[in-house]
Amino acid sequence: LEIDKSIALIDKLEKERSLSLEEYKYLVENLNEEVFDYISKKARIIGDENYGKDVYLRGLIEISNICKNDCYYCGIRHSNRNCDRYRLTEEEILECADEGYRLGYRTFVMQGGEDGKFEPDYICSIVKKIKEKYKDVAVTLSLGEYEKEDYQKMFDAGADRYLLRHETADKEHYEKLHPKSMSFEHRMNCLKALKDIGFQVGCGFMVGSPYQSSSTLAKDLKFIEEFGPQMCGIGPFIPHHDTAFKNEKSGSIQMTLFLIAILRIMRPNMLIPATTSLSTLDNLGREKGILAGANVVMPNLSPLKTRKKYELYDGKVCTGDEAAHCIGCITNRINNIGYGVAKVRGDYKCLNTM
Ligand code: SAM
Repeated sequence: LEIDKSIALIDKLEKERSLSLEEYKYLVENLNEEVFDYISKKARIIGDENYGKDVYLRGLIEISNICKNDCYYCGIRHSNRNCDRYRLTEEEILECADEGYRLGYRTFVMQGGEDGKFEPDYICSIVKKIKEKYKDVAVTLSLGEYEKEDYQKMFDAGADRYLLRHETADKEHYEKLHPKSMSFEHRMNCLKALKDIGFQVGCGFMVGSPYQSSSTLAKDLKFIEEFGPQMCGIGPFIPHHDTAFKNEKSGSIQMTLFLIAILRIMRPNMLIPATTSLSTLDNLGREKGILAGANVVMPNLSPLKTRKKYELYDGKVCTGDEAAHCIGCITNRINNIGYGVAKVRGDYKCLNTM
């Protein structure tokens, strides 16, 4: 009976692209093999209809692990004294982009902690240089919370996309994952501002973060449905040994894949990455992510000497590999499951039917 009800809800989601909070909660609470099989097949068909066999590449440049925030889950949180801090120079960032371009990347993601040194004007000057040099690339920023005027400057400088995971759509849950100095409302307002400005916007959350429940997950799904982002990144929570959550359990691979499939069905043309945390917990995580409906991978382009220092959680994969090795390895993995990496910008495709 549960299976029938779940399957009916999945069909309803496909038709209406919307479910109630209670319905999302039901799906999350009643996951089993049969339902997973049904939803992942459907998600993959819908993914293929929208993006074919293309998987988009994003070159991730981790520009700084210096952070003023103290998110309880994160290895580069401000109060982690054991974290060996670094900040790439502008020249180093541009070198990563050069190498990435040579390797075929057409999107660069500059991600980092909330490092005060990266003032909006400084970020803008780097974005401008990349965009002037390479006319056919997109630049994505993932540098945390700024004021709307600052986001506007970054957009005007040529940044195309912005990733800012909402982390959880439940205010009480948010407050259990972050210190008082951080505000749920501010983060949500940042997302709205980014969207108003015209960025392709990505939100997202960790699966299995401490205090997460089927109700908070249902809220995450409802928030994504209503907010309508162009991108959504989800990956399992993985504990880091220098955080308060060091003894917590990692998130579930199966639940992450299930949620990816729900997202694909809910928003058929959304850009959904198979994340590094997924491949950290499962050697075939990226492949499984794609087979559940994801269509983006983000290999690491950061300089080798700083790779290990951007340690958000324990055991992060690919921290010892050259950029060229990463793209080769990921390309093979994707080819092995019948997909191909597309060396294009890979923008969000608008649905004419909506
Ligand atoms: N500072 C920017 C921000 O806050 O959006 C970008 C960098 S932040 C480190 C990138 C993402 O890493 C976060 O949004 C969070 O979801 C994820 N992350 C941090 N710690 C993690 C952990 N222990 N397990 C899995 N993901 C984690």
